[in-house]
Amino acid sequence: MLYLDNSATTPLLPEVKDAMLPYLLEEFGNPSSKYYSLAINAKEAVESARTHVARLIGCSNNEITFTSGSTETNNMIIKGTADYYHSKGNHIITSKAEHPSVLDTCKFLESKGYEVTYLEVDRYGRISVEDLQGSIKDTTILVTLMWGNNELGSLNPIEQISNICLNRNVLFHTDATQVVGKIHFSLEDYPGITFLSCSAHKFHGPKGTGTAYIRQDQYGISTPITPLIHGGGQENGLRSGTLAVHNIVGMGKAAELALRNLKINIETLVELEEELITVLEKKFSSHILFNNDSKDKIPGVLNVQFIGINNEILVKKLAPIMAVSTGSACSSSKPSHVLQSAGFSLEQVRNTVRFSLSHIVNKEDLVLFNNL
Ligand code: PMP
Repeated sequence: MLYLDNSATTPLLPEVKDAMLPYLLEEFGNPSSKYYSLAINAKEAVESARTHVARLIGCSNNEITFTSGSTETNNMIIKGTADYYHSKGNHIITSKAEHPSVLDTCKFLESKGYEVTYLEVDRYGRISVEDLQGSIKDTTILVTLMWGNNELGSLNPIEQISNICLNRNVLFHTDATQVVGKIHFSLEDYPGITFLSCSAHKFHGPKGTGTAYIRQDQYGISTPITPLIHGGGQENGLRSGTLAVHNIVGMGKAAELALRNLKINIETLVELEEELITVLEKKFSSHILFNNDSKDKIPGVLNVQFIGINNEILVKKLAPIMAVSTGSACSSSKPSHVLQSAGFSLEQVRNTVRFSLSHIVNKEDLVLFNNL
């Protein structure tokens, strides 16, 4: 089975599994307990993981809060900001091509009286910075825009967005779920990013664990938000609940490996993508169109239209030998809102398949396409 749905999730690396196992078995302590070694070991393991995740995205350890994944982080940041800054304003800016965990959270807030601007996107799912500039008003409390799109792979102009938000004094959240471990960046270079979401299972870590990056000022004070989950006060009161130590350890190991191998992994992805384009063009020649941009994108993501062929039928037919998808796994029952917002017709959307690679795919295995 050739697995080409790595934007949906990635397989756990063996090193990650090995790092996690002791914390599911003998090292089962609760990191919030005190004094005895099981608790201390668990706490140390969590803090070591925090260091690795912080290094991967270029921030300090205290700016990392562990969550259950990007869906939770997106909810936490958007609802938490909306609630905390309610007296300052009620306007949020996002785009039409965001993940459902952002869009549905914004819709929920609209039902509670908040005002949301959904920016239009271009043919590749990117917002225009001029539109963003023109949409910010006195009541704007948050801009939430994804870094890399989960279907088209396009990168938003994050540096410009970050600068605009910094200059206009508006908090900026970016859903970086699809880019962490896939592109090189350091949050030090983006002073306008206040919040960031990422998820371990997108870079060969376990499912059910993610991170909220919450910027601290020069005095070490976190940008305040209202917590989404109240309780025992874990994670500095921002995310209560006993920490999933084994998963957090897995995220830390995956982050360590992702950072150590980032350069070579990106080179591998670029090479694999070139090979995939070659085999697809050879096999299907004039019957395919690439919806994705060829530049400013996440390496290894291709969004391909098979002219006149229904994507559901194609994906099902390929399923015994190859895992690909019609779009995002989180909204797979509906025709892609991302492609529709980028101006594709319903028919074009229904002809589209997403291929997403990982550095562990074998180049030789791509010859499978020749046998189709
Ligand atoms: N945002 C984006 C851009 C995603 O691709 C995903 C996962 N499909 C999520 C958020 C949700 O992440 P999680 O699975 O960790 O909840």
